[in-house]
Parts: sequence; C-alpha cells; structure tokens
Amino acid sequence: MALLNCPDCGTEVSDAAPNCPKCNRPMAKVERSKLWPWVSMIVVAIVYGVVAFVIGQTADIVFPALNFSLWPFTLVSVLLWVGFPVVLFFGWRFGQRRRSR
Ligand SMILES: [Zn+2]
Repeated sequence: MALLNCPDCGTEVSDAAPNCPKCNRPMAKVERSKLWPWVSMIVVAIVYGVVAFVIGQTADIVFPALNFSLWPFTLVSVLLWVGFPVVLFFGWRFGQRRRSR
C-alpha cells in the first residue's frame, strides 16, 4: 500500500482510499483506472471506423477500375462488420490489462 499526495490539498492519501480524507476529492488514479477499458474501447472503435472507411472507399475505387466482380467487395464489407465486435472486445481486454497493472 502506497501513499499518494492529494492534487488539491497535498494531504497524503492511501492509494486504496477512493477519496481524500481531508478535502474529500475523489482520487484521480482510481477514477481513471475504472474508465480505461471504456477509453481504449472507444479509441479502438474510432480507429477501426476510420480504417474500415478508408478500406471501403479504396475498394469502391480499385475494384471497378480493375474490372473485378462485386463479390470481393461484399466479402471485405462482411469481414469488416464481423471484425468490429471482435476488435471492440480486444480493445476492452487491453484496457482491463492496463488497469490491473
Ligand atoms: Zn485533498
């Protein structure tokens, strides 16, 4: 068990305490660690959305230009949709591992 300094009043607070005993300020470290799985999941979702959009746009231009049939485009779209919850799950897990450290 370690002691942290309250950012507001400078009192030494146990890292197990959720609030500062003097000024009752919620300890930021606890707050942030609870949010980590959500933060990493949202970041992963945004990055994935951008990547999926770029791949979709590229496929939209490249496939007709190369005279491809439509099925590779459909396959890519399906894979992107199926991959989305999987990627979200790994983003969540990553945040949890970071929290337990
Ligand atoms: Zn304090």
